[in-house]
Amino acid sequence: QSARELVSSLIASIPDFPQPGVTFRDLTPVFASGPALHALGTSLTEPFAGRFDVIGGVEARGFLIAGAASAICGAGVLTVRKAGKLPRAVLREDYALEYGTAALEVHEGELPPGTRVLIVDDVLATGGTVGAAARLVERAGWEVAGISVALELEGLGGREALGDRYEIFSLLQY
Ligand code: 5GP
Repeated sequence: QSARELVSSLIASIPDFPQPGVTFRDLTPVFASGPALHALGTSLTEPFAGRFDVIGGVEARGFLIAGAASAICGAGVLTVRKAGKLPRAVLREDYALEYGTAALEVHEGELPPGTRVLIVDDVLATGGTVGAAARLVERAGWEVAGISVALELEGLGGREALGDRYEIFSLLQY
């Protein structure tokens, strides 16, 4: 069974969550499966092998993928956090969500200048979240090695919104 088949077999689709009209793709069964989480960590980093120094995990589901990938490939994790969680001086980016608004933060100076950061998250929808993470990485003086997600919701235009500025990999497309 391929990583693609294994992961897709475990994704649940929940109608009308968190609000009517939205179909939520639930990856918790993927995270609960050792083989599937391992396959996800491998397949999201392999396309960028040798081209990144650190994995940028977006809170909260991106942390799980980044942690699994870190254990597999040996790179550390940059925690791209929701606003208000980091204790030292931060850079902040506000962004629009598929439903609502939010902000992400990283610590200034967390990594040396020029560090190549591979951004990972579970789902690419409108692209607002990983776009904000990418802007943070650049404003902090690091480089975006790429953006890698488990699932790309193609109808929401995230790839188009991010433009050709970043290399984007998605294991699955719905
Ligand atoms: P975007 O910012 O690209 O519109 O939305 C992506 C972010 O929202 C990701 O951090 C992702 O965790 C969350 N998200 C949006 N839609 C879904 C969904 O259907 N399933 C899951 N698991 N997360 C979603």
